[in-house]
Amino acid sequence: MGWKLPDCIGSKVPRSSLAPLPVEEWSYSQQFEWAGTVTEMNDRKPNNVMLDDANISPGIALNWQPPQLWGEPLRKWASARAHVSAITSLALAEPTPRQPILLANEVAQGASYAMDRSPQKDCRACAAGCPGCCRVMVAVTVPEILAVVDYVRRECEAEVVDVIQQRATETAEQTEGMDRNQYAAQQLPCALLSSDDCCMTYPARPIRCRGWCSLSVERCHECFLAGSVDQTVPLDAHAYAVGQGAADGLSSGIAAAGLDDTFYELNSALARALDVPDAADQWIRGEPVFADCNRYG
Ligand code: SF4
Ligand code: SF4
Repeated sequence: MGWKLPDCIGSKVPRSSLAPLPVEEWSYSQQFEWAGTVTEMNDRKPNNVMLDDANISPGIALNWQPPQLWGEPLRKWASARAHVSAITSLALAEPTPRQPILLANEVAQGASYAMDRSPQKDCRACAAGCPGCCRVMVAVTVPEILAVVDYVRRECEAEVVDVIQQRATETAEQTEGMDRNQYAAQQLPCALLSSDDCCMTYPARPIRCRGWCSLSVERCHECFLAGSVDQTVPLDAHAYAVGQGAADGLSSGIAAAGLDDTFYELNSALARALDVPDAADQWIRGEPVFADCNRYG
């Protein structure tokens, strides 16, 4: 399609060392289901956790200090945290259109804080400009996409916002009715990916994007750049469990507040949120403003 976007605004975490680690010091093995395939975990030993908490409020840090849990119990912990945040935030007598944006930012920042306590953080292979994972179907709740649009409108030039909107609309039309595997095979970049493969909305990116931290760039490229989700990718299991739980808890809290809790496909929801200026206002009033967007599945 020949899209040309300016250099990235945000950046992914620096690439960590991929030197082999002795497994006898710490064994960690789990399996997760993702995108129709089983994702296996490597055995890794814990490394020193590098913390980057400059923008985290003390309240969020307190709420999202992760317990010593792994796998499903950790996922449930993150889900409960996000659920409580959602019902607390949305239970206001008259929530404003700003409320879903504040909620999404709170849960996303809290989840990132918990993810960054992962003993596997130093083993992550992710880096700015790494192509691959941003060409698959991403699930978002409405508050998450409203937070993305709020960020894009504040940080990007108007012409960039127009390009993002055009890309999101075209991708949504092109992938309508597709499942995750069919979507991945299209190799379409996320509308928020810059021409140098960086996330233009990195500080406000959705929760699922935050939780996908690979331990092998080679395996990622074998999988994603081949348009195949049949292969396995070793993940930071702690970050993955927190991300899955936080996203699910956000959705269940939204449902408890009586609002649209659907997981939509990112580009489709993004196009709608950019197209409808008062989308947040309509959503908080319970109107079906996103109802005909493509769903994650
Ligand atoms: S998840 Fe994989 S493709 Fe995405 S940035 Fe990390 S190493 Fe690269
Ligand atoms: S929002 Fe950012 S991190 Fe997520 S898929 Fe799009 S470009 Fe990638």
